[in-house]
Amino acid sequence: MITRLVEISEKLADDRKHDPVIRARMELAMRGQFPRFLLISPINRSSQDLQLFNIRLGDTFHATRVPGHALLSPEQSLTLFKGPASYNHEFQSKRGVVLTFDTTESLDIIRETMESIRLHPHLRELPILAFQVDYERGRARLIVHGKGRDYANENNLLSKLRRPDELDSDLLVLLCCDSRVRPPRTNKGVPMAIRALGGYLPAFSGNDDETRQLDEFFSDWLSTMQDSKRILIVAHGDFEGGGASCGAGTASLHLSAIENPLLREVIEELENAASQYESVLPNTPEERVKTISKASRANLLTYPSIADAHNLYQLAIDEVLMDTITNTLVQSEES
Ligand SMILES: [Zn+2]
Repeated sequence: MITRLVEISEKLADDRKHDPVIRARMELAMRGQFPRFLLISPINRSSQDLQLFNIRLGDTFHATRVPGHALLSPEQSLTLFKGPASYNHEFQSKRGVVLTFDTTESLDIIRETMESIRLHPHLRELPILAFQVDYERGRARLIVHGKGRDYANENNLLSKLRRPDELDSDLLVLLCCDSRVRPPRTNKGVPMAIRALGGYLPAFSGNDDETRQLDEFFSDWLSTMQDSKRILIVAHGDFEGGGASCGAGTASLHLSAIENPLLREVIEELENAASQYESVLPNTPEERVKTISKASRANLLTYPSIADAHNLYQLAIDEVLMDTITNTLVQSEES
């Protein structure tokens, strides 16, 4: 399966290199990321959201929430919410938070998610652009609310709507929030993706927090057609010599340089988890993101639903590398 994904990614990268607009954005992306929005999508719709709004390379820092559930408070959701929102705060270019909801999600989920957004100290001042989306038709309805809006950008996003590709729900990808990377395309369409700093997923805690929501999500996902399901952990960085490392991976090697205490708390967890798979301190962020992937893989197996699937029918969990700028996939030696 990975070989096919690598081929598709190489073909797409080649197409993109011939587009002068994309090439200009790639050159900018080598110098850093300047996202205007923090996009929070349901995990199952996250790849489709990038297509729905025609999001350009580098334009949204991307977080995800468990579908069918409201976003939890920042304290209950370190990896899916607190970390990405704290990292997003460091961008001077930020303009707002974009939230998407499936048509099947209730008004309570929408209301509670917006309340959680306002609980994050870094998000209190940003406008919230919220949409309820019919993904099959590629249509979105603006959600009117009283928590701070941005009419111009709401209209701008609505003007870009297009019908996303088919969802390939057989593949679940774990990928960094970085605005320059997007989940790999598959033969069937675009995969589901969990976006988190460095692509790091914590262990199942047994507490009433995001890991419980995630276990419920994994359990639902794995309840049907088990044989075709796979998980792919993607570590990104400068793997083609383009010159852009993972920001979270880099930060985890320089903890004392992180001034924002909320961000430091999250990156510290990443560093603790990764260092358990290192005999010496990595020389490069590229080495570090590989051990973050190893930690995520081990953590995935602590979720009861994943452990069952892994024991009963060897659910495949693979690791792969992605170049930050070209998004080309590279097989990691270990997998
Ligand atoms: Zn990253």
